[in-house]
Amino acid sequence: MLAYTYVEPGKFELLEKPRPVLQDSRDAIVRVSLSSICTSDLHIKHGSVPRAVSGITVGHEMVGIVEEVGADVSTVCPGDRVTVNVETFCGKCFFCQNGWVNNCTDPHGGWALGCRIDGGQAECVRVPYADQGLDRIPDTVSDLQSLLVGDVLATGYWGAQIAQIQPGDTVLIIGAGPTGLCTLQCVLLQNPGKVILCEKDPDRRQFVAEQYPQVETVAPEQVVEKVKAWSCHGGADAVLEVAGTPESFRLAWECARPNAVVVVVALYDGPQTLPLPDMYGKNLIFKTGGVDGCHCKEILELIAAGKIDTTSLITHTYPLREIETAYELFENRRDGVIKVAICGQSE
Ligand SMILES: [Zn+2]
Ligand SMILES: [Zn+2]
Repeated sequence: MLAYTYVEPGKFELLEKPRPVLQDSRDAIVRVSLSSICTSDLHIKHGSVPRAVSGITVGHEMVGIVEEVGADVSTVCPGDRVTVNVETFCGKCFFCQNGWVNNCTDPHGGWALGCRIDGGQAECVRVPYADQGLDRIPDTVSDLQSLLVGDVLATGYWGAQIAQIQPGDTVLIIGAGPTGLCTLQCVLLQNPGKVILCEKDPDRRQFVAEQYPQVETVAPEQVVEKVKAWSCHGGADAVLEVAGTPESFRLAWECARPNAVVVVVALYDGPQTLPLPDMYGKNLIFKTGGVDGCHCKEILELIAAGKIDTTSLITHTYPLREIETAYELFENRRDGVIKVAICGQSE
């Protein structure tokens, strides 16, 4: 089968590989219908994910049809249409039992698919702990509607959950990339009073203004002043930082009101500075990433109910054999691209 492969830093290649086989009684084999390209894939390509293993098939955001299950898989059967979770987790250890599946203590726990084990930018993928890693897609929900559930939408949902948003709150989201836009949809479900989205790219601000007219959009240069003007207590009640730059990190705590929750959803290239003397008296609560991706079932129900719809974020679709072109487009952010879908089936 065809599999897009991390060959060495700087080099991905579409290679012919054997189909994956069950390696454990809790595994499932999934035929990939659609996969997507994530910024984390680019981090692997550029060698900034030290744990990434060369030779693995990349891709950790996908939906497909279960082809085969091990003897101990009980929640899905061959023929089921499923979302695949970016995180591998056992469901039994201390962290899993508390819902902190990102910290699962299994040797393969956490982000393994498409990083340490073969992922889904391929015709088929082996999913370990299939009972935890797969969720059945409701019949009324399409593959395209559920494509982002296992990764960026799971991240947005998790961020919005831990931000402790109260009805009527002013919420600031920094960054309108795919994860920021998923975060926005999940924040809107929490009945905030006002949502402000800070983004430097005017095209992305325009996109948000058109899609979500109830949301205020603002450029980073104006955000401190605008958030102050638009909130009741001198700053946002909750801030979700999804941009991942030193500037956005600073804005996140600057724009927060005293005693606010600041959720750091973003992944940074390097350490960030907490200038504690400048922050003294703000009594902020920081919550740092990454995602505990164990709410895919709830997210699928919200999609089925028409409360979340990320299809407008998927701006381009390519067949697997043209994945090189898809990466080139995504990496260079050409043609207004937000997310690219890859059709897994080879005709
Ligand atoms: Zn990702
Ligand atoms: Zn676990």
